[in-house]
Amino acid sequence: MCKLLIIGAGGVGTVVAHKAAQCDVFTDIILASRTKSKVDAIAEKIGGGRIKTDQVDADDVAQLTALFRKYQPDLVINVALPYQDLTIMDACLACGVNYLDTANYEPKDEAKFEYSWQWAYRDRFKQAGLTAILGCGFDPGVTSIYTAYAAKHHFDEIHYLDIVDCNAGNHGMAFATNFNPEINIREVTQKGRYWENGKWVETEPHEIHKPLTYPEIGPKESYLIYHEELESLVKNFPTLKRARFWMTFGQEYLTHLRVIQNIGMDRIDPILYNGVEIVPIQFLKAVLPDPKSLGANYTGWTSIGCRIKGIKNGKEHTYYVYNNCNHETAYRETGTQAVSYTTGVPATLGAELFARGLWKTPGVLNVEEFDPDPFMKEIGNRGLPFHELFDVNLEL
Ligand code: NDP
Repeated sequence: MCKLLIIGAGGVGTVVAHKAAQCDVFTDIILASRTKSKVDAIAEKIGGGRIKTDQVDADDVAQLTALFRKYQPDLVINVALPYQDLTIMDACLACGVNYLDTANYEPKDEAKFEYSWQWAYRDRFKQAGLTAILGCGFDPGVTSIYTAYAAKHHFDEIHYLDIVDCNAGNHGMAFATNFNPEINIREVTQKGRYWENGKWVETEPHEIHKPLTYPEIGPKESYLIYHEELESLVKNFPTLKRARFWMTFGQEYLTHLRVIQNIGMDRIDPILYNGVEIVPIQFLKAVLPDPKSLGANYTGWTSIGCRIKGIKNGKEHTYYVYNNCNHETAYRETGTQAVSYTTGVPATLGAELFARGLWKTPGVLNVEEFDPDPFMKEIGNRGLPFHELFDVNLEL
């Protein structure tokens, strides 16, 4: 029995609300976000009076604590933006509420994401007897749980990890991002980085790339980028000699991205326009398609997984575990495309495992620190089945 508060009403918040509404363990579900009309529209679509709605500015701890005191939730799922992670964690501590998110903290004025800010809350959550589950979307999230599952069941030591993320879908637009454009563009224009032999190796953005073959999809050019789960995975699996993250991009997407950068539309510092301060990337977000609106015309598949090499009983083995998710199927069920779906479904299952007492450990924990088995047992039923390939050519 768990009172659940969801913050954020974008693509991911929509999926979390739909999935949570199907789950009896959540006795009360409250959906709150900055724009009340958006939460109301989601609640109305789900129907049956299952979801209560409210308005909150999650940058403001006082507003958050007032909201928490009003509804007294057991757990908050933060699917607003990474900028709000710390204010929501502060309010959780003030009101004795547990916490779950899908993206690590990022300051608004610096395009830099890392776990240090949230890990600094560990002792306070522990002392308060509260659980904070970090990074419970797909990547981070399922990819981290796949890694934990592989380490637990298929290897004595894992040595090489390559997380591979392919979106082979087509939304019919010249340029659009699949989740919040501001966060997405900040992420993919960063320098590349991967872990090798105990240290980080930095690359120019998109410098390293190669075609990788994705199941049921075929070969797609894949680019080495830095991704947040690498930071916690190399700490939690110290046998890793190398850990990398690959993402597919189409040529059209990369060309648009280059132009956006060349003309300064990715700037995150305020500029003066007609006497008004605007932040170019925020203005760009306002004119780009809303990721939520892409679903209606999205066709094709995403394919995200982990390609792992390691040792079992003294012999080297390879293992590839992945999920393929169809944009149209995701849209039919929740009204959103597969990128929002693959993020919202694991977040809801993580919350359910917390509610059932299976993932309840006071402190601030990355998702791979919990037992992967109950998650892997249920995730297929929730819409994201996984497939395993053993001793195959990993191409890496
Ligand atoms: P959207 O931009 O579509 O939605 C964000 C929502 O948060 C909007 O409803 C927005 O409100 C709300 N919001 C923003 N600022 C505030 C605020 N100050 N107070 C209250 N609400 C606020 O993003 P997505 O749904 O695509 O993504 C949500 C989260 O999921 C992001 O953190 C993203 O990084 C993460 N993500 C994680 C992935 C993973 O696999 N781990 C993959 C994809 C996304 P408004 O409607 O008013 O703008």
